Amino acid sequence: MDRYVELLRKKGLKVTPQRLEILRYLDKNRIHPNIERIYSDLKKGHPSLSKTTVYNVIDDLSRADLLQILTIDRFEILCDFKAEPHHHFLCKECHKVYDLDGDFSCHLLEKIRSEGFQVDEVHGYFKGTCRSCSKGKKEE
Ligand SMILES: [Zn+2]
Ligand SMILES: [Zn+2]
Repeated sequence: MDRYVELLRKKGLKVTPQRLEILRYLDKNRIHPNIERIYSDLKKGHPSLSKTTVYNVIDDLSRADLLQILTIDRFEILCDFKAEPHHHFLCKECHKVYDLDGDFSCHLLEKIRSEGFQVDEVHGYFKGTCRSCSKGKKEE
C-alpha cells in the first residue's frame, strides 16, 4: 500500500487524491514551502486544483498531526512534513528556513520544570543569518 494512504488511514482521514498529492509533495520538498508555493507547484500537474482546496487540505493534515505549520515568518504560513517537534532557523537574508535537530537545553526549560510545568514539546524559532549568507558577506 502507498505509504501516504497508510498515513491518512492511520489518522482516520478519508483518502482523497488532493490529500495524497499534498502529502507526497511536502515529503519530497522539505523546504518549508508556503501555501502559495505548494499551490503553484501542484497546479502545473493538476490544473483544476484551487487554492481553497490547498488551504483546507493543509488544515486537515495539520490537525491530524501529519504536518506542522510554522509561523516563524509573520507574513506567511509555512508547511513542514516533519511533524515531530524540532527547531527552526530563519535566515533574514535569503528567507530560507533550516531544520535544527537536537535537544533544546537551556536554563529557562529547567526553571519552567522546577516550577511544576510538564513540558511535552519545545519548538524553537531562531532568526539571523545563515552559514552561506554570512560567508557571502565576508567575501564582499
Ligand atoms: Zn541565508
Ligand atoms: Zn522543519
